[in-house]
Amino acid sequence: MEPLTSRAPRLFCDGVLAGGAAISLSPEQGHYLTGVLRLRPGDPVRLFNGRDGEWLAYLTEVTKKTVAARCERTLAAALLPPDLDFLFAPLKHARLDYLVQKAVELGVRRLRPVITHRTIAGRVNLDRMRANAIEAAEQCNLTAVPDVLEPLKLGAVLGDWPVGRVLIHCDETAAAGSPLAALKALALPAAVLAGPEGGFDEAERALLNRLPFVTAISLGPRILRADTAGVAALTLAQAVLGDWDRSEPPLHRLID
Ligand code: SAM
Repeated sequence: MEPLTSRAPRLFCDGVLAGGAAISLSPEQGHYLTGVLRLRPGDPVRLFNGRDGEWLAYLTEVTKKTVAARCERTLAAALLPPDLDFLFAPLKHARLDYLVQKAVELGVRRLRPVITHRTIAGRVNLDRMRANAIEAAEQCNLTAVPDVLEPLKLGAVLGDWPVGRVLIHCDETAAAGSPLAALKALALPAAVLAGPEGGFDEAERALLNRLPFVTAISLGPRILRADTAGVAALTLAQAVLGDWDRSEPPLHRLID
């Protein structure tokens, strides 16, 4: 990819991306491209929508109200992250923003907020979560944005668990043992579950411990903050089960 293109800003857009397609960008995106980056008609941008891969496009119209671009050619195929879901108890704003962005960067397929007995966050702002997921996808060269699912109670999630998917439960009371050894015995599709700042209560932990699809892992002798635990567990899961071994072919492709 020639240097100019590789430095062109990457933006998520909803429209269909195809050769010659005209794309209208949102007012916020327009302000960013023209007000912040001072781009003008003819300048390149990189667009992705989660389905059609990443496209090189050129700005065609730049006014205060509208910023439009025309697609020229694909730069990358659409790739799904590995089939690894992240289940987490919603945290307070800043920590939740951080957790969502790091999970997307680390490479999750779906973000699944779960309500546990000690979850502190009240209403879960899914639009904010989706905006954080899109921002992280733009920044880390993803061509697909992870789905953000509606929050569900932990019991409901476990009661309707998909056959064939393992659940990796971050449990600070888990028997001492290497998390790597535990993860090496597993395979995708998988999910990681991190608890709330107050932890899982005894009833939740007992339920998790008796489910056949659950593997508890310790993240060491120290009690990690919920966001730290989520990042640490996703790091281990991606390194052992995911796509961090670059000598392997990409795990998933949306379209050829
Ligand atoms: N029960 C903890 C305590 O005594 O302070 C509070 C929970 S901890 C702040 C939040 C979540 O992070 C836990 O529910 C667990 O999922 C995860 N976690 C924290 N430290 C961990 C560890 N050492 N091993 C495994 N999971 C851990």
